[in-house]
Amino acid sequence: MDGSNVPDAAPVLILLGPPGAGKGTQARKLEEGFGLVQLSTGDLLRAAVAAGTEAGKQAKAVMESGALVSDEIVLAILKDRLAEPDCAKGVILDGFPRTTVQAEALDELLKASGQRINAAISLDVDDAEMVTRIAGRFTCGGCGEGYHDTFKAPVVAETCDKCGSTEMVRRADDNAETVASRLEAYHAQTAPLIDYYDGKGALVRVDAMGDIGAIASDLGAIVSRVSA
Ligand code: ADP
Ligand code: ADP
Ligand code: ZN
Repeated sequence: MDGSNVPDAAPVLILLGPPGAGKGTQARKLEEGFGLVQLSTGDLLRAAVAAGTEAGKQAKAVMESGALVSDEIVLAILKDRLAEPDCAKGVILDGFPRTTVQAEALDELLKASGQRINAAISLDVDDAEMVTRIAGRFTCGGCGEGYHDTFKAPVVAETCDKCGSTEMVRRADDNAETVASRLEAYHAQTAPLIDYYDGKGALVRVDAMGDIGAIASDLGAIVSRVSA
């Protein structure tokens, strides 16, 4: 595959940030507000693990350890997803790229179809906050809506506000030991992308220590500006 299915005019946005920064939470809001498509490589990899594909089998143990899955597997999964028709609306990349190799491959992929990155938005939070956010995280198994024990509890306990499902899921890798490795991977392999995108004039930094609604409105203003 040598291009993506996103037309020239449709926005390509990247949400950068450590695990637990709120990328998934904010990507879903942007999806609703701007009609964009959220592409989470974490979600795509978890689906591959659940489906038992060859890539999923290789990714499973790596994800459980908190390390990064190989660039080769992630790029193959991402390229396939980008080629699907709904991506023509524009995309929010959530959790991708996570290494310089992935960032360079994305540049090539977009160049091949005459596109550009509208913005790489870095959600800045400190390490202590990430640990608190990850420790309380759970997700609706019905629709994927994200929740938090303290910061975003459902109105009715254990019941999704959006779809009414009572199947709530906690991720196997959201445990204290794995979180330390994920933070390490973030600082060593992903944080350098902040400079990478700054060098291209695409970086926008957002203070992501505030509440979900305030950050969503900051992001909305940024996305309106860079997509114009
Ligand atoms: P990421 O996709 O960056 O790993 P998530 O969006 O899954 O992060 O958020 C991690 C956890 O923190 C979830 O439980 C979510 O409900 C909660 N959360 C997200 N943003 C905030 C925020 N601004 N303040 C408090 N909790 C938040
Ligand atoms: P979080 O934002 O909380 O770190 P994700 O769902 O984005 O969680 O990722 C979960 C795991 O999936 C990562 O710890 C890593 O093992 C793998 N993963 C997700 N995206 C990538 C990527 N772009 N490159 C390599 N590994 C990835
Ligand atoms: Zn739901």
